[in-house]
Amino acid sequence: LTPVPSDIEISRAQTPKPVDQLAEEIGLLPEELEAYGRSKAKVRLSLLDRLHKQPDGKYVLVAGITPTPLGEGKSTVTIGLVQALSAHLKLNSFACLRQPSQGPTFGVKGGAAGGGYAQVIPMEEFNLHLTGDIHAITAANNLVAAAIDARMLHEATQSDKALFNRLVPLVNGVRRFSPIQISRLRRLGINKIDPASLTPQEVSTFVRLDLDPSKITWQRVVDTNDRFLRKITVGQASTEKGQIRETGFDIAVEVKWPVSWWIMAILGPLADSLPVTAEDLGVSGALAVLMKDAIKPTLMQTLEGTPVFVHAGPFANIAHGNSSVLADKLALKLVGRDGFVVTEAGFGADIGMEKFFNIKCRASGLRPNVVVLVATVRALKMHGGGPNVSAGAPLPKEYIDENLSLVAGGCRSNLRKQIQIAQLFGVPVVVALNVFKTDTQAEIDLVCQIAKECGASDAVPCHHWAQGGRGSLELAQAVNEAASRPSHFKFLYNIEMPIVEKIRTIAQQVYGADDIELSPEAKAKIDYYNQQGYGSLPICMAKTHLSLSHMPDKKGVPTGFVLPIRDVRASIGAGFIFPLVGTMSTMPGLPTRPCFYDIDLDPVTEEITGLF
Ligand code: ADP
Repeated sequence: LTPVPSDIEISRAQTPKPVDQLAEEIGLLPEELEAYGRSKAKVRLSLLDRLHKQPDGKYVLVAGITPTPLGEGKSTVTIGLVQALSAHLKLNSFACLRQPSQGPTFGVKGGAAGGGYAQVIPMEEFNLHLTGDIHAITAANNLVAAAIDARMLHEATQSDKALFNRLVPLVNGVRRFSPIQISRLRRLGINKIDPASLTPQEVSTFVRLDLDPSKITWQRVVDTNDRFLRKITVGQASTEKGQIRETGFDIAVEVKWPVSWWIMAILGPLADSLPVTAEDLGVSGALAVLMKDAIKPTLMQTLEGTPVFVHAGPFANIAHGNSSVLADKLALKLVGRDGFVVTEAGFGADIGMEKFFNIKCRASGLRPNVVVLVATVRALKMHGGGPNVSAGAPLPKEYIDENLSLVAGGCRSNLRKQIQIAQLFGVPVVVALNVFKTDTQAEIDLVCQIAKECGASDAVPCHHWAQGGRGSLELAQAVNEAASRPSHFKFLYNIEMPIVEKIRTIAQQVYGADDIELSPEAKAKIDYYNQQGYGSLPICMAKTHLSLSHMPDKKGVPTGFVLPIRDVRASIGAGFIFPLVGTMSTMPGLPTRPCFYDIDLDPVTEEITGLF
């Protein structure tokens, strides 16, 4: 339709096919499906065993230029591309997307189901609770946090004997260590497992974790942009007997999505410098129970009825911000050798794509065939020197009228640099220009011409937002062509390089920094992680997505800067070290007028309005 209706109107106008019909079409057996209502279902992981001999399909990553408030449309391009591949080129295809966080949905950005005629449906379900994975992650994370504080209180207020009697249960009149307790004794170098023969010193060493409150990095989480929780004081009630400490909340989808989904939380150092795990707190079984369904990807569909897996969370600026390895692996088997799996890395290629390659591909062993780099004329104009615009404000004329010199400026700066970053990994790049109705033919032609001059293997305009899959046919053909060429994938850094060198490599080669500058705190943490044996983990930079540098207002390609590393944290269970760059926060805030102002429920029809 012209004009294109709102995202939610388009989504609601299309009735999704029943999820069991979709599952049958893509080759799932009825027993591999756990339906959640009519239009979404969890997929059992036994599928991976059944299909393990099946060859993988082609693997495509959608990334973007540096985001601006004017929007780039990576999700719409991802969905438009799979719609074009499946429904129009008749090639099997799957999109693997991240589940949106309620932070942005009610905050600044809105949902992430795509838009126009390239969407996942039903978009309200996709954008809100879906199948409860984020709630499960929140519950699991906060159970660990509660267990840490409770354990510190009990250790502070109970004798060794009382703790020992409670933590080593009586079975048939005999005290029995659990397998976890036995392994903990062995880790402490104690090989006797007869409780009666342990010395008082050994009993004390065993029952006390002696967590140092100042070294605990595990925070509580909530999936709301609640800036007032960035720093809090816990334990102020008199019942907590003075166990007061400062801590904070992170946004739930931040860093707790392990790429390999393995829960082994390293919570903080013991007095004897051994790391404490979820098992030491006795909570690992409960965590597995809380996460048992969240580990399965959710099957949904696009507006044109092609399959989509939704799994794991966004936030490529502070987390790794990629969909799960499991979802990608299942989808690659399901599409078969000639099919395509298209997945999206959040924000600009400098963060989402860099983490996709260096963290996710390293963990999964999967190798991408093509990178699709999304750009818009409007965002390129801003990188080329166009005026700043705040979200929702009226657009200055530079973004409405033709302006070839601003477009060329953006192409020769940010677009060129993001193409070069993708090329560092040896993968062919196709530039997808997401066309807005204000773009002129001369502007579109100019972007495609300069993109190819800058090394893209192809560059094409896409009209999926206004036309659905048929508007992205040219992109589908270009991706199919590029995927038939050899990809010479390589990692940016050797995993065995020292932590500081890995951070420096990303800062210099990807962001274009002259060097890095570590705060004393960052240096001390790096030394500590090295001592603990975590030096060979990949790096997950927490950096603003709004610039290649740490300064959000510096567009284009900033040069002549030193990247400040304020702090360094570790997510050992998830499998990475994450440096905090500049003032980057792990809990976003709400703007003066957040998206929630527009969201409402019709009391009669129960229809949701105002989501986009
Ligand atoms: P990203 O994935 O880069 O964050 P999305 O694909 O989620 O961006 O798109 C953000 C918003 O911009 C959506 O509401 C979408 O409808 C809108 N949008 C995307 N592409 C276009 C376009 N070509 N014309 C108009 N609006 C668009």
